[in-house]
Amino acid sequence: MTASRKTRAAWESAVDVMTGFYQNRGHVWPAIQARDLIPHICVKGTRWANEEDVGRVASLLEQARFDVNELAEDYLGLSISRPSLLPLDNDSGRLFGYTFTGTSEIAVCRRTLDYLPLYRTSVMHEGAHQVLHGRRASVENSPRARLDDNRRKEREANEFMRVTLLPKPILRLAIAYVANILGFPFDRLLTEANTSRGCSQWRTYIFTPLINRLCVSREFIAIALRSMGVFSEETLNYHRSYHLNNHWLSEAYSHATISAADIALLRSSTSPTACHRRMRPRRSTCASRNSQQSSSAQRAPRAAVLVMSP
Ligand SMILES: [Zn+2]
Repeated sequence: MTASRKTRAAWESAVDVMTGFYQNRGHVWPAIQARDLIPHICVKGTRWANEEDVGRVASLLEQARFDVNELAEDYLGLSISRPSLLPLDNDSGRLFGYTFTGTSEIAVCRRTLDYLPLYRTSVMHEGAHQVLHGRRASVENSPRARLDDNRRKEREANEFMRVTLLPKPILRLAIAYVANILGFPFDRLLTEANTSRGCSQWRTYIFTPLINRLCVSREFIAIALRSMGVFSEETLNYHRSYHLNNHWLSEAYSHATISAADIALLRSSTSPTACHRRMRPRRSTCASRNSQQSSSAQRAPRAAVLVMSP
C-alpha cells in the first residue's frame, strides 16, 4: 500500500485511524488481511482451487464494509448532523457536506441517506477534514494562497476517504472474488479493461456485484482503478456515462425535500466550510457562497474533486 508524495500524510493518518478502529473491535484492519491473503489464493483456470477461500473472502469483504457512523461518532468523537443542504446547491455543484472548523461537527446532507455509498463517502470526506485539518488554522492570506491551500485540503480529504473506504488490497480482492464467482480470468479483467470488450464486461457483469459488496459508488471504484493504472481516462469517462442499478440504490434518491427548520439551521450556522461535488462535468473545484464574506483563511471553502454517481 503506497501513497503519492503529496498525500502521504493523509494516507498515513487514514492507515492509523483504520488500524486503531479495527483494533478496538478486536480485528486486524481488513486491508492488511487482504494484502496478506491475496498471494495465498490458488487459482486453477479461472476458479479458486480452495472453496474455503470463497467464504473467507466474502466474510472479509463484509468486515471491510464498516459502519461510517460508528467510526466517525464513536471512534473519532465527531458529531454528525443531517440537515437538507438542497438550498445550498449552486452552479458549481450539489452540496453534500459541511465541515465546521474549530468544532468536532460535520453536516451531511439528508438526501445522501437515500444512497448509502454516497452517505459513506460524504461522512468520510467531511470526517477527513476534521481529522486532518480541523484544528489546524491556515496562515495564508492571499486569495491565491487560500485557493492552493483549499485544493491541497481537498486532495488530502479525498485520499483519506479513499484509503478508509476502498483500500487497494480490498479492491483487488473484491475484483478477484467477483471474477471467481463469474468464472472470468482475473488478470484479463484488468489487462483488457480498456478494450471495448473489457468495458462491456465491466459494465454488464463486474460493477454491480462490486458495488453491492463494497458499498461504494461505481464512480469511486472507477476513479480508484484509474489511479491504479487499470482504467484509461477514456475508460473512466465511459464508466461515468451510464446509469447502473445496484443493491443500494433507492427510489427516493434525488427526491429529497427541504424543511423550513433546515433552512433556519443553515442560515444560523456561523463558520461552515462547504464541499460541493459536481455531478457533471466530471471534475471541478468548488466555491462556497461564503467565500466572499469570509474574513479568515480558516473559513475559506474547500474544493471537492470527486464526483459521486451511482
Ligand atoms: Zn472537502
